[in-house]
Amino acid sequence: MNYTLHILKKIRGHLNPELYLKPIFLLKGNEKHDPLVNNLTDGVIYSLDQVKLVIPVMEQIYLKVADLSFTRSLSFEAQMIDKILNMMYSRDKKELEPIPYFNSGIGYSFPEASINFGYMDEWQVLDILDIAEKEGLFASEYLDRIYLCNNCSGGFLSYREVCPHCASTNASSEDLIHHFPCAFIGPISDFKNEIDNQLNCPKCNKMLRHIGVDYDKPSIIYTCGKCNSKFQDISVRAKCMMCTKDAEVQYLIPRDVKMYRMTKKGETSAQTGYISTSKDIEEFIGTVKLETFKTMIKYEIERLKQTDYNSNIAGIYLKNAGELYSMIGASSQRALLRDLVEIVRRNIRSSDLITFQNVNIVLVSLNEIPTKVADNILKEIINIISRLIKQNFKNFDVDIRYSVHQLNTRLSHELQIQQVTKDFVD
Ligand SMILES: [Zn+2]
Ligand SMILES: [Zn+2]
Ligand SMILES: [Zn+2]
Repeated sequence: MNYTLHILKKIRGHLNPELYLKPIFLLKGNEKHDPLVNNLTDGVIYSLDQVKLVIPVMEQIYLKVADLSFTRSLSFEAQMIDKILNMMYSRDKKELEPIPYFNSGIGYSFPEASINFGYMDEWQVLDILDIAEKEGLFASEYLDRIYLCNNCSGGFLSYREVCPHCASTNASSEDLIHHFPCAFIGPISDFKNEIDNQLNCPKCNKMLRHIGVDYDKPSIIYTCGKCNSKFQDISVRAKCMMCTKDAEVQYLIPRDVKMYRMTKKGETSAQTGYISTSKDIEEFIGTVKLETFKTMIKYEIERLKQTDYNSNIAGIYLKNAGELYSMIGASSQRALLRDLVEIVRRNIRSSDLITFQNVNIVLVSLNEIPTKVADNILKEIINIISRLIKQNFKNFDVDIRYSVHQLNTRLSHELQIQQVTKDFVD
């Protein structure tokens, strides 16, 4: 690794945004041909007198950085996604393109993402970008497919033909000859002699004349130099140059290489700070997945059509949660969310459901009670949560809101769930 790249990795690979977002200019940069250096620096100057020329570029970057808010993410994956979004947003870059790169552990480098990883774990970039796409932060376009080692996920593989019996690469091939007059088939070496180039049939002893007339070469036969077996179909294996595992090619891990384009949601997430992936909050005890919640609301609406019960859906919104999360760090954040779920759980029926819309919004179903009662329950929940946050985080003034909607049998469940969250955004 060259020195420039080494320094660049130290800065861009850092976790502190004060560092990794810094404008970087190359002085007499001649390493621009390296795609990582090229993509992760902000320009080149040829003498120190030119520093003033790049001031507008720096100003532009700092202006964009001022739009960003920095929060602590709940998981490593969310933290990486947040970094990628911030890097791209501050450089006004919409596309994250894979670049074929021999220094990459998977053969392709996604500069803003890959700079955070070492050679051996660069494959994680693919997982992280997959998550970001699932979360709607990126839209993708298929570009290529790569194959990774099924042991270490490395991408530096050496493909070789091997003996299907003993897996040795020491196999040699020769033509198979079919002698028409006597119908004998055998390897060409059986037809050769040590004196001249003439071929003679080992079965009928006739001299072979013209290919296509009295004989032909129907295929190839292999002989293994290790186990001496003869075979016609050779196997292909890929030896991983990172962990040395030699795997049959059908067991390699295929991965799609895509081009990613930042969506509006991605841009917004850069601005607000990306705290968690859906997976990070899906697993809280006492909650259900958002998809399950939606389905249950759909069934409840169907059920309400047959009865004259009243059911409700409510949302709790921690407006400035991002600020709080960035103060307290990931583990306290998890603990806080757990407490929050527990408070809600204690105040609703066991048949009611809780889900996280995202890390700021909790959705709750309150079935078979009047909306007024549901509203009082929520008021009480909000009071307890506010008190909890005040007690635990002394200097933090939490902005917490809620909204309760009576389920309407004439509207779709999707729309009604959206309405709850819309209350908060407006
Ligand atoms: Zn490997
Ligand atoms: Zn063999
Ligand atoms: Zn013959």
